Amino acid sequence: MSALAEKEWTENVIKQEEIDKYLINGRDFIDERVIHEKLVNNQNPDKQQVRDILQKSLSVERLSPDETAALLNVKDEELWEEMYQAAYEVKRKVYDNRIVFFAPLYCSNLCVNNCAYCGFRKDNKAEKRRILSMEEIKRETECIVDEGHKRLIVVYGEHPLSDADYIAESIENIYSVRKKSRYGPGYGSIRRVNVNAAPMSITDLRKLWKVGIGTYQVFQETYDHKLYEKLHPSGPKSNYLWRLYSLHRAMDAGIDDLAIGALFGLNDWRFEVMGLLYHAIDLERQFDIGPHTISFPRMTPASGSDISKNSKYLVSDGDFKKLVTVLRLSVPYTGLIITAREKPELRRDVIKVGCTQTDASTKIGIGGYSEAAEGQDEDKQQFTLGDTRSLDEVIRELAEMGMITSFCTAGYRCGRTGDKIMGLLKNCVEGKFCKLNAILTYREYLDDYASEDTRKVGEKLIEREMDEIKAAPFFREHNLVEKLEEYYERICNGERDLYL
Ligand code: SF4
Repeated sequence: MSALAEKEWTENVIKQEEIDKYLINGRDFIDERVIHEKLVNNQNPDKQQVRDILQKSLSVERLSPDETAALLNVKDEELWEEMYQAAYEVKRKVYDNRIVFFAPLYCSNLCVNNCAYCGFRKDNKAEKRRILSMEEIKRETECIVDEGHKRLIVVYGEHPLSDADYIAESIENIYSVRKKSRYGPGYGSIRRVNVNAAPMSITDLRKLWKVGIGTYQVFQETYDHKLYEKLHPSGPKSNYLWRLYSLHRAMDAGIDDLAIGALFGLNDWRFEVMGLLYHAIDLERQFDIGPHTISFPRMTPASGSDISKNSKYLVSDGDFKKLVTVLRLSVPYTGLIITAREKPELRRDVIKVGCTQTDASTKIGIGGYSEAAEGQDEDKQQFTLGDTRSLDEVIRELAEMGMITSFCTAGYRCGRTGDKIMGLLKNCVEGKFCKLNAILTYREYLDDYASEDTRKVGEKLIEREMDEIKAAPFFREHNLVEKLEEYYERICNGERDLYL
């Protein structure tokens, strides 16, 4: 593509009217002055005040900005211990003990933007550029399916060659892959394709909706307007508002499963937690649907990026656990995603304060699954990984911690999305269906892909889960025990993809 054509495309990305329609009196929903005031005015909360706030979280009510600011200001480590415990209980209440797994698939590192923290930025000449063909995307998908994954998050830089048509075509190709399972009788496939891509117009988002996009994920990176401007000097991403309202546009395009996030390490972490909360509140206010998930990647070293190595706001492990805890308590209904950017020890610790999704067997180089190379090549990937363990290893570890892996994608296919799933999550019903479907998909995984050791630990866990289900009135009252037993039996006999 010529430089001129690329320039012309870049200049036409933003549709101002698709920003203006969401503003209130010409303003967006992030007011730095208000956030700073809330953080200052809620310093030194007393124990009782914090405990009252925890009770509100435990009743699965979203916290207000003042309440969240109070939690962010807690200094007493003993009180933090209570908060970790409450966060864990909130997670158990809404999502039970399950963890959903996904794999990221990076399709292209071509990008017209210049984000200061990213190895893919346009001016980084050290980066080896590549965009996968549809055949290569299918090959990558086969490798991911071979591990046992059922869910992808597909990632693209912003570029005319990876525009909405390319993304839509890649989603269709991913869904078309069928691969004989490693040990079991059937075929593995990807049942849900989530997308992390640049903000788009409503027309382009409709193209993704038509081909069955799962969750649409856009991270604001930082909610601070001025800092945002500094870190994003050129390209469509330099427009803060275009990005801030990308998920509002997705709602208007029919995509009601949305994911927000911030890149921690660019700015004070307490400010960014408040930004995420305000984002959730505005989605609730305008559409009655909050984010399905929140992500909180920590900045890691990226090719040719100074700030990614030297920022004064890099978040320590201790503060990272705190920020995840406050997010869990503040937006109790939302899923929280911890990724393989983090080291195994920290992942173990932070999962306990309320994460619901994670990845494993992760490769983030373009073509990284099918062209397995030793180690990580900084010049081919967006950041560096802290955990390169296989899916089987991570699943086994979680089973040993009492957590069941779920590959369930039933909710989306039964229409439990958008306002329906929000209602179910807030009333702690969705977690119950998830518990059943987790068992069914876990059984599939154990038969089709697990190592002998993982199978042994996993089977014990299934027994325990079955006992819990049989003892719980909810499942008996809704005649779900018999249904579960029937489906479980059928899966043991080789049927696949049964869900409740
Ligand atoms: S963060 Fe995204 S938009 Fe920015 S340079 Fe990297 S790939 Fe491009």
